[in-house]
Amino acid sequence: MQSSLDILRHVFGYPEFRGQQQAIIEHIASGGDALVLMPTGGGKSLCYQIPALMRRGTAVVVSPLIALMQDQVEALRQLGVEAAFLNSSQAPDEQAEVEHRLMAGELKLLYVAPERLMGGRLLAMLGQLELALFAIDEAHCVSQWGHDFRPEYRQLTVLHERFPQVPRVALTATADAPTRREMVERLALEEAEQFVSSFDRPNIRYSVVHKDNPKRQLRDFLAAHRGESGIVYCMSRKKVESTAEWLAGQGMAALAYHAGMDAAERAANQQRFLREDGIVMVATIAFGMGIDKPDVRFVAHLDLPKSMEGYYQETGRAGRDGLPAQAWMAYGLSDVVTLAQFIARSEAGEERKRLERAKLDALLGFAETAVCRRQRLLAYFGESLAEACGNCDNCLEPPETWDATEAAQKALSCVYRTGQRFGVGHLVDVLRGSQSKRMEELGHNHLSTYGIGQDLDDHQWRGIFRQLVARGLLEPDMDGYGTLRLTSCAREVLRGEERLQLRREATRAQSRRRAGSGNRAALDIDRAESPLWEALRSTRARLAKEQGVPAYVIFHDATLLAMLREHPTTLDALGAISGVGERKLEHYGEAFLEVLQQAEAAGAA
Ligand code: ADP
Ligand code: ZN
Repeated sequence: MQSSLDILRHVFGYPEFRGQQQAIIEHIASGGDALVLMPTGGGKSLCYQIPALMRRGTAVVVSPLIALMQDQVEALRQLGVEAAFLNSSQAPDEQAEVEHRLMAGELKLLYVAPERLMGGRLLAMLGQLELALFAIDEAHCVSQWGHDFRPEYRQLTVLHERFPQVPRVALTATADAPTRREMVERLALEEAEQFVSSFDRPNIRYSVVHKDNPKRQLRDFLAAHRGESGIVYCMSRKKVESTAEWLAGQGMAALAYHAGMDAAERAANQQRFLREDGIVMVATIAFGMGIDKPDVRFVAHLDLPKSMEGYYQETGRAGRDGLPAQAWMAYGLSDVVTLAQFIARSEAGEERKRLERAKLDALLGFAETAVCRRQRLLAYFGESLAEACGNCDNCLEPPETWDATEAAQKALSCVYRTGQRFGVGHLVDVLRGSQSKRMEELGHNHLSTYGIGQDLDDHQWRGIFRQLVARGLLEPDMDGYGTLRLTSCAREVLRGEERLQLRREATRAQSRRRAGSGNRAALDIDRAESPLWEALRSTRARLAKEQGVPAYVIFHDATLLAMLREHPTTLDALGAISGVGERKLEHYGEAFLEVLQQAEAAGAA
């Protein structure tokens, strides 16, 4: 048997294993079953691809999405590995061809959709072959509580019954305990060894801003990311369309994606996002599963996600290649109102609604926290990070906290005095003593809380109200007008029995100034490097286009970046770059070397 490290180095061109990869690979290669929980970008594919190359016979990979299979197979072919897929997108003669190669024992890896595998005929064919292993990718699809539920995944226990000798590995990036239990049970993996990795994604920089003028905020955020690929999530289809249109009008390569679109248009947009550099995909959460594009440089949320799980999963699509990436979110009280109302009006039972509310509250706590966001995020998933991360907005620019008890009392009593019938806009007006006609009409200019909050500006007051909601002292009414009500917890603060530390909100002017900080191009290519970087990228684009494959299938950004920084000028040196395996060196080495040598010559001249 060839050693796993040899394969890693020669075929994949990577110098070292990451995390638990080697332990997982050795375990499977020696015939064991495994359940692998690893965050997105952690390097799950190698965990079954390398054992597939180490063992005799063909490895069968069950994968839920056609796009995913195609890209994986393409990437393997680029490495010189015999791989193919079978799914419903293929013409009958194409399928026959793949089956022929399979039966001739020519394939090291076969990717199949679950329904294709369960079709019966294929199972019978597999019965006549030597099988290296079964890999069940996106294994959380067996969970009927998750949003990726695929009923066919339930039938995969057949594999164990029919092929008890063949090792099975199930892989997923979904970590929560109930899903894990369900996978073990539904896939009959009781005997499998579990490999659970940390779910931290250290290369992702988390930041949250408060919605003020969301379009402008998004535009400013994107300005630092020109030429980079990214995703902008919005809650509604309508907002997806208007945002994409607006961005396109600003000269950005923005496309839309949501479930209400015509299937062909949707597929075309997805394809462009995968194949072209620098596209901004504006989408609902319908977009994402199976998008394993490694060079997504940012994920922006224009609306609050539904839960921490959702937030983690959506932001996790950034920076799979391990290079710096940003997760940016703009949120405001109106999001909270919308989501709370959404939950209240749903058909779900009381139990379920309580659960959903708790999930929303956890997310609010995250959004309003004054401490390290990564610590908070990981803590939610039961993992503790000993030290603050240094790579989130709160770490980079620690917010000040202050004893806001008095301000909170003013805000809460203003809610009470106005009869718990108004939204934050009016409440702030009362506190700041607005002279408007409405104030007089309502008689609110005679309230004891009128004008008692002139020491803070509207921006700061809004921040306080948001934090009071996040702390569970106020809650949005379900009427949908953004009315705020006191909760039972508010009493202690009102009576002064509990003191309250809040993060200090910037004034409107300060927050404008600060908006741009911490936001810069993820890869940080400086001006002197830029011509060579562009030349490397355009060579990659040309080679990709010639073959009709995504650019990252040729080389990842991480590999190009290493070429840029290490500047190899011989084939040997180029082959030592991480991500340049033997096959790629043979096929593309000359082309990239030429670019690097020209740059050297130009630099010397
Ligand atoms: P996952 O499926 O867990 O999201 P992938 O298998 O797509 O992650 O791997 C993420 C990226 O990391 C890929 O670009 C892959 O080539 C790269 N990668 C995986 N293992 C290594 C390694 N040991 N060294 C360098 N890069 C790696
Ligand atoms: Zn941090």
